[in-house]
Amino acid sequence: METGQKMAGHREKTGKTGKVWLAGAGPGDAGLLTVKAEKLMERADVIVYDALISAELMSRIPSETEVIYVGKHAGHHPVPQEEINRILVREAKKGKQVLRLKGGDPFVFGRGGEELEALAGAGIPFEVVPGVTSSVAVPAYVGIPVTHRDYTSSFHVITGHARKDGTLRIDFSSLVKLKGTLVFLMSVSSMEQIVNGLLGAGMSPDMPAAVLERGTTARQRSVVATVGTLKAESDRAGIRTPALILVGKVCALSDRLHWAEDRPLGGRQFLLTRPRQNMSALAEQLRGLGAQVIEMPAIRTEVISPNETLREALAGFRQKQQEKWLVFTSPIGVTVFFEQLVKMQMDIRDIFTGSGRVKVGAIGRATAAALEKYALMPDVVPDVYSAEALGERIAGTAVPGGHVLVVRAEKGSEDLLPPLVSAGLSVEDVPLYRTGYEMNPVLREEAASLFRNGEIDAVTFTSASTVRGFVRAMEGAAEDAGSAAQTEETAHAGSAAQTEETVHAGGLDYRQICAVCIGEQTARAAAEYGMHIEISREASTDAMTEKILELFGKNCGKERSPEHAGR
Ligand code: SAH
Repeated sequence: METGQKMAGHREKTGKTGKVWLAGAGPGDAGLLTVKAEKLMERADVIVYDALISAELMSRIPSETEVIYVGKHAGHHPVPQEEINRILVREAKKGKQVLRLKGGDPFVFGRGGEELEALAGAGIPFEVVPGVTSSVAVPAYVGIPVTHRDYTSSFHVITGHARKDGTLRIDFSSLVKLKGTLVFLMSVSSMEQIVNGLLGAGMSPDMPAAVLERGTTARQRSVVATVGTLKAESDRAGIRTPALILVGKVCALSDRLHWAEDRPLGGRQFLLTRPRQNMSALAEQLRGLGAQVIEMPAIRTEVISPNETLREALAGFRQKQQEKWLVFTSPIGVTVFFEQLVKMQMDIRDIFTGSGRVKVGAIGRATAAALEKYALMPDVVPDVYSAEALGERIAGTAVPGGHVLVVRAEKGSEDLLPPLVSAGLSVEDVPLYRTGYEMNPVLREEAASLFRNGEIDAVTFTSASTVRGFVRAMEGAAEDAGSAAQTEETAHAGSAAQTEETVHAGGLDYRQICAVCIGEQTARAAAEYGMHIEISREASTDAMTEKILELFGKNCGKERSPEHAGR
């Protein structure tokens, strides 16, 4: 299931020069990424990025993509611009497709122009992908339109960045005369100088003004006041960078037009650990309700291909004359099964032959839904979502002496087979894929700091293996999944007792984590690490979303428990 094969090696051999895309990533909300930038994030060989790129955005970068961070680390100096220029030229000369990703729009105080000059000078081809700039989008997310016919006919974007001697190069009297909305970027530390400059140039102290922090993200905060009171109000709220200052009558509209925080999951941030191919549905539902969603796949499906065992099993299956069963235990198993048939050029009519109709079993609703996409309506789907229940239901339905072919993950749950064998059925268990652990090193660091700051409301787990993969990822363990691999839907929780070591591993206190789990077995695995457990009503994406809404949604259900309030 590995996608996004990179062509860098090929290009290097053919000696072609690479290319640089200078792209804006928007102000933080991943939904504000342009379609073009999103495609480039999936395809680039190397991504050169700096601060202001949110964890949600970073989680869109495939884990195998090379990344070069050129932003400021806390308390450290930023990478000098000349160094960034050199990196871009160097990577492109290696023949790579380089994505230079910047917050907001690359040409709005992004020094994008300087980077292009360096590329042009070195003869490197480039393209520019404009982004959604924070100067317009951040006000929009607190209900402030930067222009409005009743209040203003222009808006002006100004840097509040002070010169080395601490002074600002701003012509305040010209600005005040314009009577437009003023947007000051990079302005938190020079707020006092800005408001004094405006007041000194004759602006009324009652002019509405606002300071907007981390706009468009789950952590956005705003202080709406007047030019006269902004500094004191902002200090009281403890506003920090990144934030922008907005001055103008339109600021007063926020009181009536606010919307982002009012969405059911507005201001909430969740981390999803499902394998990438199953991710989108839950992420989309949560984003649709206003949440920020960090996608950090903890496990990965490695397809066994070519699969000789499957070929032989199917050849035998077709010959059998007794009642025949084909049994699936995960949606991904269904997809892989049909992909393998095509690969082996095996026609579906040759498999579904015999004396009677071939019966089909599915472990749960998600697996049944995956089968229906191939026009197969399963004969058996147990009410309880477990391998044992599936085995017992088939055992109770099948004609003794029948043949059962189970197609699933390597080292799948052992509970499925005993009921079938005791019912006198002949059973063949064929592995289609293995589950490996996945880790994105860049995201790991980012996620760890978000957890420490209490900025992640909950983590979702859809199998015991996602719990283990998550813990491994957070601890930075790069070992192979090895024998710990389990079936996606039926993994068993181990029996490791909860110790201080398990709850505190990797510097992260797992007891602080709220784990929203798809079923009991998954929950047992999360409980081993001391996580706070919540279990969805049934094993489906809709039920997971329902549970999250019940726990964290506005005006629908209970408040968060205080120990998980986090902020
Ligand atoms: N090219 C960027 C701006 C770069 S300057 C753009 O078009 O948005 C960096 C400044 O942008 C920060 O100091 C802050 O003033 C502002 N900024 C960027 N993202 C922001 C956000 N999410 N919320 C508030 N201000 C933001």
